[in-house]
Amino acid sequence: MVDFTSHIYINMTLVDNDAQAVTLPVPRTVWRNALRQRSHRKMRDRLKDMPPHFRTVWRPSHTKSLSNLDKNKLRAATQYLTGHCELNYHLHKYNPKNISKICPHCSMEEETMNHFIGRCPMWFNRRGRYFNCYYTSVSEVADSISLKNIVGYICSTNRFNQQ
Ligand SMILES: [Zn+2]
Repeated sequence: MVDFTSHIYINMTLVDNDAQAVTLPVPRTVWRNALRQRSHRKMRDRLKDMPPHFRTVWRPSHTKSLSNLDKNKLRAATQYLTGHCELNYHLHKYNPKNISKICPHCSMEEETMNHFIGRCPMWFNRRGRYFNCYYTSVSEVADSISLKNIVGYICSTNRFNQQ
């Protein structure tokens, strides 16, 4: 038996681009799912215009995690997500004559986010503690590690608070 009390009577037809027109009355679950899909599609469209770094590190699950971070951890998370941080690769863009792109800890390669998060030998112990592996890549970390642990790793190195 159909429970009509949960139906919302809307004086319009809800049309989704991917789905067929829905006839009235529209069950609550149908219009909720349609709105959710529409907002996800809009978010995906917006992400297409985002910088490549952001697309590499952003995962939808981060949305909820961001709201649970305190001020200092949110600052670290913002630097991680945007790439605008205290790493030499980024600082070199503002002061190319005085700041080298090379990592100051190992001098092996440019200090990019990928190097800092997954490759620098200086921080391999901390990666073991927070990521449960010693060498990885930033996209693997984004896929498998919670934002809370990523920010924990960043804060433990104190690398984004060099001033
Ligand atoms: Zn290094």
